[in-house]
Amino acid sequence: MDTISAISTPYGSGGVAVVRISGPEAIAVAERVTCPLQGAKPFTVRHTWLRRGDEVLDEVLVSVFRAPHSFTGEDVVEIACHGSLYIQQEVLRWLTDAGARIAKAGEFTQRAFLNGKMDLTQAEAVADLIAAETKAEKELALSQLRGGISSELASLRERLLHFTSLIELELDFADHEELEFADRSELKALAAEIARKLTDLTASFRTGNAIKNGIPVAIAGATNAGKSTLLNALLGEERAIVSDVHGTTRDTVEDTLVIDGVLFRFIDTAGIRETTDSVEAKGIARSRQAIEKAQIVLYVRDLTQLEIDEITEFGQEKTVITVWNKADLGKRETCFSKNPSICLSALNGEVSELKWLLVETAKGLFHYNGTVISNARHYEALTRALDAIQRVQEGLAINQSGEFLSMDLQDCLAALGEITGQITSQEVLNNIFSKFCIGK
Ligand code: GDP
Repeated sequence: MDTISAISTPYGSGGVAVVRISGPEAIAVAERVTCPLQGAKPFTVRHTWLRRGDEVLDEVLVSVFRAPHSFTGEDVVEIACHGSLYIQQEVLRWLTDAGARIAKAGEFTQRAFLNGKMDLTQAEAVADLIAAETKAEKELALSQLRGGISSELASLRERLLHFTSLIELELDFADHEELEFADRSELKALAAEIARKLTDLTASFRTGNAIKNGIPVAIAGATNAGKSTLLNALLGEERAIVSDVHGTTRDTVEDTLVIDGVLFRFIDTAGIRETTDSVEAKGIARSRQAIEKAQIVLYVRDLTQLEIDEITEFGQEKTVITVWNKADLGKRETCFSKNPSICLSALNGEVSELKWLLVETAKGLFHYNGTVISNARHYEALTRALDAIQRVQEGLAINQSGEFLSMDLQDCLAALGEITGQITSQEVLNNIFSKFCIGK
């Protein structure tokens, strides 16, 4: 392993910037531009100067973390310098002159993973934590960083591994068909337990995804009902094009907004109506897809156009809120709907009650105790693991031979192992860590 260095604070000037060095030569490299550090007590901060010969660059604070008690598990030195862009770049240049190499994106965290300081889900949680914009996102990332999903899966995988080895042992004694080391009824019980757990975890992805990417809210309704105006009022800015020419919102417009700590992803859809215009028809098809994926639909209706037929079919598993719009023109008491409804004037920006209703609806949608997964990679591997364990269950039900059971058990173990990184390829690692920023 060589010694790497990077600026760990965000790009730009600030009060302080932190430049990190990690690797076997970290302390030696830092000493070449600061002061003797070999004797420094671990977990202490030293006040010193960055100097090279007679040239002094900055007054700095230096922290030394000795392997394995550091973020990466290697010797690490962190230099806190003044946050001028010039100084930061110079510190980095001096460190590379002194023998460090500039770190690649995510390389510090990758080293932490390779040195066993964290598993893959925890490394991914570091990236999520850095990107967290709401309390819910932060909590999700933090629970993953603390090993939430890993601990759930590790013991199940361990127990499954035990049975798999026993079944493979049976295969070694294939001549003695009567030998059965792995108790089938115990294996059945374990497979059922694993299938239940994996079903819960995969189901939690909907919640996790909503926390991370926002709860998808489609704004639907007839053209000119005021959908774009409503979106703009919610976002508090001119985002969608508002016009009274029918069919203006031809494509879907998306934007996210945090209300009361909950992240929503609003999708303004093209008005749904019969049309002969092929471009508009494409927009309408896309609207239907957006509505299909949404968890909440804001069905906007124009109070002055009550003759327009009510749309009743929005698909399964979603909450529809009817928004009676243009209340400034119509009479509020004319509102009626089979859905929960609200009456407002989007044009006048009367959206506070709707925002409250959205937050209440979101809270009702996501009552989830237990581990929530939010990472698509985990979801994909869990789905494969679930699929494999269900095949094991089916195999056990028909007294399938150990040979076939063993194949499905191996598939399940491999998929579970991929999540925490016990089994992984360089390609997967590169893919995960390249999404990190440099310095992390
Ligand atoms: P969309 O086709 O459903 O997206 O409708 P738009 O948001 O483009 O609005 C269509 C027309 O209705 C525009 O002229 C808007 O100014 C108008 N409009 C939207 N909301 C209201 C409202 O609350 N009150 C009134 N008076 N007009 C509105």
